[in-house]
Amino acid sequence: MYHQLCLTRSGGGWAEGGSVVCCLTTGRKARNGTGNVKFVSSLGVNLTSCCGFRVISVMKFNGLKAGLALNQLASAVLALSAPACFYRFVRAAAVGDDENSSGNPNSNFPWPVVPPYTMKNFNSPGSGQQALKIKGLGRILQGESESNGNYPSKTIQASCKDGFGFSRRPVTVDSSKAKTSLKALKLCIKRLKWKEFPLGRRAPCDIYWHGVSFHDNENIVSGLVNKFPGMVEMLRKINLSRAMRTMQELFPEEYNFYPRSWILPEEYRQFSAQIRLLKEKDTTMNTTFIVKPDGGSQGDGIYLIRDPSDLKPMVGSQAKQAVVQEYIPKPLLIDKLKFDIRLYVLIKSLEPLEIYIAKEGLTRFCTEPYEEPSQKNLSHVFMHLTNYSLNVHSGNFVHSDSQSTGSKRTLSSVLYRLAAKGVDIKWVWSDIIALVIKTSIAVVPELKVYYQADIPPGKPGPTCFQILGFDILLTKNLKPVLLEVNASPSMRIEHEQEVAPGVFEYVPSPVDKEVKVDVIRDTLRLMDPLNKDSTPSPQLKAGEFEHGEEIPVDSESQGRSPDENLPSLCLKQVYPKYSKEFNYLRLVERITALFIRFLGVKDNMRLGPTAFRTFIRTCKLNNSNFTMASVDVLYINITRRRSCAIPDSREAGMGLQAFVEAFFYLAGRRFKFLVLKEQVVSLLSLCEAQLGPPSSVEDRRSLSCSRALPRAARTQTLCLPDAQSSSPATQRRATSSPRPPVSPCLRFITF
Ligand code: ADP
Repeated sequence: MYHQLCLTRSGGGWAEGGSVVCCLTTGRKARNGTGNVKFVSSLGVNLTSCCGFRVISVMKFNGLKAGLALNQLASAVLALSAPACFYRFVRAAAVGDDENSSGNPNSNFPWPVVPPYTMKNFNSPGSGQQALKIKGLGRILQGESESNGNYPSKTIQASCKDGFGFSRRPVTVDSSKAKTSLKALKLCIKRLKWKEFPLGRRAPCDIYWHGVSFHDNENIVSGLVNKFPGMVEMLRKINLSRAMRTMQELFPEEYNFYPRSWILPEEYRQFSAQIRLLKEKDTTMNTTFIVKPDGGSQGDGIYLIRDPSDLKPMVGSQAKQAVVQEYIPKPLLIDKLKFDIRLYVLIKSLEPLEIYIAKEGLTRFCTEPYEEPSQKNLSHVFMHLTNYSLNVHSGNFVHSDSQSTGSKRTLSSVLYRLAAKGVDIKWVWSDIIALVIKTSIAVVPELKVYYQADIPPGKPGPTCFQILGFDILLTKNLKPVLLEVNASPSMRIEHEQEVAPGVFEYVPSPVDKEVKVDVIRDTLRLMDPLNKDSTPSPQLKAGEFEHGEEIPVDSESQGRSPDENLPSLCLKQVYPKYSKEFNYLRLVERITALFIRFLGVKDNMRLGPTAFRTFIRTCKLNNSNFTMASVDVLYINITRRRSCAIPDSREAGMGLQAFVEAFFYLAGRRFKFLVLKEQVVSLLSLCEAQLGPPSSVEDRRSLSCSRALPRAARTQTLCLPDAQSSSPATQRRATSSPRPPVSPCLRFITF
């Protein structure tokens, strides 16, 4: 009997098929081709005669027939004696391959498994795993030092998993740019039995883990990257404030969880005027404001003021940019200390929008007892700012191994403590979920513009996902308030400690480890490119389910790893799970879809004056009262004002935020007697009706935010579910009956 063998090169490694395996020889003469093969291992055993191989197909490898390539490869040989079970050999050193790995030696198998050709060879159930050590393969199996100094495994593993005998190859992760998240990432890769490439890899990896931004590694054309293009820019304080303000204009009630903010220097006059007016009305008014530099983080450059005249003069054009925000004077206190919540949120996909929230988070405590702001204590950073990076320098900072004491605690320990005091934490948790979904809905439109500019349709590119860090404050009345969203939340699992006077060392931080490792591990599980269940699920249309019924997405089972020993996922899907309650908020996304349609073939992020005119004309928004000359004036006014606001802005054209402003203006002109939200819905319906469904090119332009998604699913999600149909009846409905505010049924969310 011949066993069948198929050699093929796929992705970064060799694939195996048939009844098994590659027989890779060391340079001893190997004859190959279809038909009988003489395989000679470096052990000197003629495997053809002992095993009876037959090559049924030989595919091209680097221009050479596989048979020739065999001569260049290291030896790892099949011994196929029991038909029920096949032995998988770790490739010891693949000459000509550029891999470097420090992964689990037992998972050192970077090739995709090709389904077996001959199932009849595997007709009895698997019998567990068997590890073989092959002696005498000399230098080859001992392995040459690979480029990163790691040695490949000497262990040859036999796998008899099931009747088919196949277990999947490990997912490959490039961790070369992981920075401070590296330690946690390594632990997760090991736990998942995946394969790490700490120095990167010339061949593509399945996942690229970046510490800072999408561009940490340039020119990634496939796989997954843990950052979206534009997320860093989008979540800078000014941009986030703008996006939140747009939503506040449309939905003031729904977005009242974000403190009133002004952008400096652009809105200094409005800020001063409003405060003066308030003080005139109420002479006892003593509102405090917090000033945050635009590019700042970790509390850098933040200070409190009580009057616009207290603003510090700033030098340099960039330094002038800041957000000044209403200060929350009555936060919830624990042990008399102010604290904030760091919540980890996974944006798994933009299109369709998929959001997961980590059940566990961190709470960061101030180190000086809180007092309401007064002129006396405004400069007490340890009292007012919860940043770990600041408070760690206070003599009162407590590093604790316990999750429920110290200056950094788990969120669950705080919530349970509140529950013990009679607080309805389900209520708090559902408010937090709502805050996360609404904030994501506010930032997604511009992210889509960044995405299509960076990875235009038709250009090869990776699929993106991202873990965000939401900073949330609870008020004394238990209302969650959004402080900011971090595009690169720290995933460090150690903290600095002074081990001797003046000598600092990083020591493990159990609380960080407890929370962050689970978040990374489960993000990887959800994104697992080799697990079919983990690819983005097509979004269900709103209204497809009866009122109050949950969308039946079992987040527990999503992305379940083949390793049943892993705990259930700590990341819970909240969107599209609660899409029915929140979809009506996605109006700016519909405006963005129009914007992207008119961006033109150049993959930029700004509309030129001609494109803006085309938009107006195509949507038939001009008339005798609003001529094309007025259109030009509108364009010039809006773009000029915005470019003046950004002192060194060299970018010409109309960005998304300016387009949204223009759209609001046009909606206001056209539908004077409606409230803004209804004006916008009406104008959207009108434009969408004029434009019809996007052409295939436009479709790709506006919907290419998830490369893993089948086209049909994308098309399904183009039009957001609120009155997007172009029929006049639907338009009327949309105009006359806006969606109700967030349904109270969200209150059932459990922690
Ligand atoms: P950074 O990116 O520099 O950390 P944040 O916006 O997170 O900036 O602000 C730093 C800290 O200041 C927060 O952790 C919080 O303790 C406090 N803080 C920020 N905004 C407010 C606010 N509006 N009201 C009360 N405290 C705030």
